[in-house]
Amino acid sequence: MTRLDASTEPAEIESAVECDGPRTVLLEARQVPLGGLRAMDVRRSLPQRDLPLIGAWCFLDRFGPQETVMRVDPHPHIGLQTVTWPFVGEVRHRDTLGSDVLISRGQLNLMTAGDGIAHSEYSTGHGPVPLDALQLWVALPESRRHGLPAFEQHTDLPTVEFAGGGTATVVLGELAGVASPASAYTPIIGAELNLPAGTAVLLPLHPQWEHGLVGIFGDVTVAGTRVAPDQLLYLGIHRDRVLVRAETDATVFLLGGEPFEDDIVMWWNFVGRTHEEVVEAREAWEARDARFGDVPGHDTRIPAPEMPHVRLARRHRRI
Ligand code: MN
Repeated sequence: MTRLDASTEPAEIESAVECDGPRTVLLEARQVPLGGLRAMDVRRSLPQRDLPLIGAWCFLDRFGPQETVMRVDPHPHIGLQTVTWPFVGEVRHRDTLGSDVLISRGQLNLMTAGDGIAHSEYSTGHGPVPLDALQLWVALPESRRHGLPAFEQHTDLPTVEFAGGGTATVVLGELAGVASPASAYTPIIGAELNLPAGTAVLLPLHPQWEHGLVGIFGDVTVAGTRVAPDQLLYLGIHRDRVLVRAETDATVFLLGGEPFEDDIVMWWNFVGRTHEEVVEAREAWEARDARFGDVPGHDTRIPAPEMPHVRLARRHRRI
């Protein structure tokens, strides 16, 4: 996905708070304004004003459920991985490495931007099609963020069966000793949990990681708090398990990981550490620099928005 609301976001956030213990904070997704002729229904759970990151996870959009035409033309990324995870419908991905793939339910597209990549995302066919998917971004650590871009697709992800019923699909990282084959560069977990109504699961968590759960379908109660679709329950750190009870047939997405090594600067489709880096990436995209290259099959691209008139600042946790 590309962000069309980049110029409206607050540039400065103060008073950092350490992630120092368990939390039970329920946060709502917000509607994202999308420009262009065709409206797509997009709701954003991350970043939140008070919560820029959960582990290395720095962005979570859900587009759908809806009938729509998705036409996200070539746009650049730096310093992050994009995780595309469809529930309904198919997404065609093309990028500057020459990748051209279709993904559907149960499959993962993972694009590692490193120092620079560009891609497009289209729905299939010419008319509106049913579509519902997550796109998440993972901030890359210093050791990987300046490296080469890469793209991988995984069609066979491992699952965890819970004793109390229900399953988890391990999309990225590791859950209960089961590891996704997808490339991760920080200790992390991203998993889809499917729980039949009435199931109660003691979900194992890494005590040194922070976690959150996003409702997708149905309702769950987590650590005593009811979570509905598009609500994000932030759980903080220092939990080795959490009780998840399905009030209906439910699907939720678990996000977690080691608290990220650094505060990040995030603007438009770029994740960096300084204002200057973002300016440099923006200028390279606008100049059609070889840093990003061209996506084969396209003669259009999304121009970068104007930079705000203030310096971009690193974002701090406040809960
Ligand atoms: Mn994108």
